[in-house]
Amino acid sequence: MQLAIRPPVTCGCKSRNPWRKIKAASPLNVVLAGLSGNAETMMSSNSTDIASSVDVVLIGGGVMSATLGTLLRQLQPDWKISIYERLDTVAEESSNAWNNAGTGHSALCELNYTPQGADGKVDISKAVAVNEQFQVSRQFWAYLVENGVIPAAGDFLTAVPHMSFVWGADNVAFLRKRHEALSAHPLFAGMDYSEDRQQIAQWAPLIMQNRPKGEPIAVTRSLMGTDVNFGALTRLLFSYLSGTKGCVLHTRHDVQDIRRDEDGQWRLKVRDLRENTDRIVRSRFVFIGGGGAALTLLQKTGIPQAQGVGGFPVSGQFLRCTNKALIARHRAKVYGKASVGAPPMSVPHLDTRMIDGKPALLFGPYAGFSTRFLKQGSLMDLPLSVRPGNIGPMLAVARDNWPLTKYLIQQVMQSQEDRIAALRDFIPDAKAEDWELVVAGQRVQIIKQDPQKGGVLQFGTEVIASDDGSVAALLGASPGASTAAPIMLNVLQKCFASKMPEWTDRLKAMVPSFGQKLANNPALCQQQFDRTTKILGLTL
Ligand SMILES: Cc1cc2nc3c(=O)[nH]c(=O)nc-3n(C[C@H](O)[C@H](O)[C@H](O)COP(=O)(O)OP(=O)(O)OC[C@H]3O[C@@H](n4cnc5c(N)ncnc54)[C@H](O)[C@@H]3O)c2cc1C
Repeated sequence: MQLAIRPPVTCGCKSRNPWRKIKAASPLNVVLAGLSGNAETMMSSNSTDIASSVDVVLIGGGVMSATLGTLLRQLQPDWKISIYERLDTVAEESSNAWNNAGTGHSALCELNYTPQGADGKVDISKAVAVNEQFQVSRQFWAYLVENGVIPAAGDFLTAVPHMSFVWGADNVAFLRKRHEALSAHPLFAGMDYSEDRQQIAQWAPLIMQNRPKGEPIAVTRSLMGTDVNFGALTRLLFSYLSGTKGCVLHTRHDVQDIRRDEDGQWRLKVRDLRENTDRIVRSRFVFIGGGGAALTLLQKTGIPQAQGVGGFPVSGQFLRCTNKALIARHRAKVYGKASVGAPPMSVPHLDTRMIDGKPALLFGPYAGFSTRFLKQGSLMDLPLSVRPGNIGPMLAVARDNWPLTKYLIQQVMQSQEDRIAALRDFIPDAKAEDWELVVAGQRVQIIKQDPQKGGVLQFGTEVIASDDGSVAALLGASPGASTAAPIMLNVLQKCFASKMPEWTDRLKAMVPSFGQKLANNPALCQQQFDRTTKILGLTL
């Protein structure tokens, strides 16, 4: 869907000549300014070329900005919101359906959320937290459908069973324990377990066809699983937003600099890539939803919280099935165990996808390395993100993460035969001619200072905000888009603390469990699960 681009809103405040072209910095100056962390050359702080002044600027046309914008629209319809996306249209980076795995992450099948301790116990606390977060997303989406904000959930959400699949006696023992621990919990009720080959063949015929006998195998299956087309969701949300008064989406607009004015407002230099002109926009609040590039933009703000933060990009690739008969025979997301040294998001999985009304079958991800922070980013993204403050943590991470480095080197060196060999762990008789390689999105993992180790690599997401809450950035990409709603609620709590008493009733209307833990309230958990299943049409 192509969104209509409307002319920018100008509210007139302090605007002398909104469309005057401001002088662009030379590429050398841009590089030097980027390296030193001093953006002085890019935007003079006494520039008065203010094209518009708004309440909120959202940078980036991905699912995070779309979700935050929608929440704010519902809470504060009178606020002026400007959204800037550098590409031709929204949802073209990580949020695009083909650039991510589309798993509604709720820890039903992802084994990395249930580590086994040295005592053999399976710790389910992280799984419970991730599932809880996904229930918040479900409630928010149900609210949007119920209230006509988006037409129907079927355009972006499909019920797809989630399965974990393991082989080898130790892994089978682990999966059995994991199932025992999870199935006793209300958020994971109804999860099935089987070591029976016939039963597994019924649930997922492709993984059993021509599988050699003898090796113990086990599977869990939950019918609560989902496939999410985050690209379609993002487009629906932006379509809603750009149809509301006071909210303007500007595509092909690149935010190049962010500085704080003396009055505390933020001043952004935005380049119109169509006209090749620059403009200044002032805003009371800025959300940096630039995906992998959020780090670059956060560094430009100069807030102390950005000090010492670095990024490590890991790219993803999938094998996409081109054989329609095979695609039709599989309907599940089947997650395996990660290989040693692999980052948690590189767990191999065989995925039914539902993209733009058509089923697809993907296997992966295979990790890759690129210095770009976005799929359509620059090879200079990583080198230009190095600052005196983060070089120490980045070097410490390089020193301490040899298994990861080794894993990435192995992944990058893989041939198509190697990839098909990995696929045969899942589909024993997979044929190379039925699969093509597709490149997915970039995930920039967070590197942070650590008093003991110097620097640590984190695989989760983190909201980094200024003390006064006037600017916030989302870094990292896991669990990712599935948890956009709870993450953006977190942004509201961090950045608009004084508005929370006024907003709480509205927030509870959108997310009935807001402020409560479903894990502690089985009745509410069941009630909301049944309600959202019905509204979102999630019965299999
Ligand atoms: C391989 C892979 C698999 C994944 N699988 C899953 C999954 O199964 N489930 C899940 O929940 N999540 C998954 N994720 C994570 C999920 O895709 C991301 O967390 C989510 O899409 C991030 O959304 P975003 O809005 O932050 O970023 P994006 O969707 O990347 O959007 C950022 C936007 O900002 C724009 N932008 C950047 N800089 C500027 C600038 N200076 N000016 C203007 N615009 C700018 C970009 O062009 C882009 O459109 C996966 C990610 C990858 C890469």
